Amino acid sequence: MNRVWHDAHPMPKNANRQQRIEWHIAHAEACGCRDMPESVKRALADNQQADTTKKPS
Ligand SMILES: [Zn+2]
Repeated sequence: MNRVWHDAHPMPKNANRQQRIEWHIAHAEACGCRDMPESVKRALADNQQADTTKKPS
């Protein structure tokens, strides 16, 4: 567990969906102490689909 990262990045108390997603993205890159919840993975996939349909690169 990356304790330094966790100390610097506490999950906001009343985090909304977007904040949770962003937290888990950053967390997955910095630390692997726990898996992304399925709900976050699904939201991430939805976001990526939405992004690619809006502006294909
Ligand atoms: Zn962690």
